[in-house]
Amino acid sequence: MYGGRLKQVLPQLGYAYDALEPFIDTETMKLHHDKHHASYVDKLNAALKDESVLQSKPLDWLVRFGSVVPEQVREAVRNNAGGHWNHSMFWRTMRPNANADPVNLDPTGTIAAAINKSFGDAKTFRKRFTDAGLSQFGSGWVWLVANTAGVVKILTTPNQDSPLAHGFRAVLGNDLWEHAYYLKYKNRRADYLDAWWNVVDWNEVNARYLKFGEPL
Ligand code: MN
Repeated sequence: MYGGRLKQVLPQLGYAYDALEPFIDTETMKLHHDKHHASYVDKLNAALKDESVLQSKPLDWLVRFGSVVPEQVREAVRNNAGGHWNHSMFWRTMRPNANADPVNLDPTGTIAAAINKSFGDAKTFRKRFTDAGLSQFGSGWVWLVANTAGVVKILTTPNQDSPLAHGFRAVLGNDLWEHAYYLKYKNRRADYLDAWWNVVDWNEVNARYLKFGEPL
């Protein structure tokens, strides 16, 4: 039972369901947030119902150390704490009309310098990020992550697995599950990945990146 502790809650979107149109459609946003993300939250709360020690842990901790929680809830924590964390970040790193000028999808600020250092230039970075997203078989995520020295790289994770569990700070991530794009883009994951750059909020990405030296 929940001993008076706070359960995990579904965060509100910081914008309307239709705010990311035409790049992400309203129906996808409604289902993705209100049903898919909500389901991860509900299932995580259900899994922790009788786990008083885990109930007191922050979500970040559950995601990072999910592999060492009691065996009877390990799979549920891995999938649902991961799903809750990943989606909470995903909503925050997008914003309406983020890159209103369609010819300028490039990163700005400090992260732009880090990206150029690792990938050469913004266009190469986008291509490698998209290629990584296309090469992920089945469901998962594609990430830009930073190590403690601030060096960025791209990685992919299956299902709802998290870069935190691998010791990296996630600064940007895109959802490769079909539920993220299938209603509008059908089987065309590449088109979705290309369009998504239009809604990336580089201000938020920079804020996340600038914590690279802090403990995860
Ligand atoms: Mn999703």
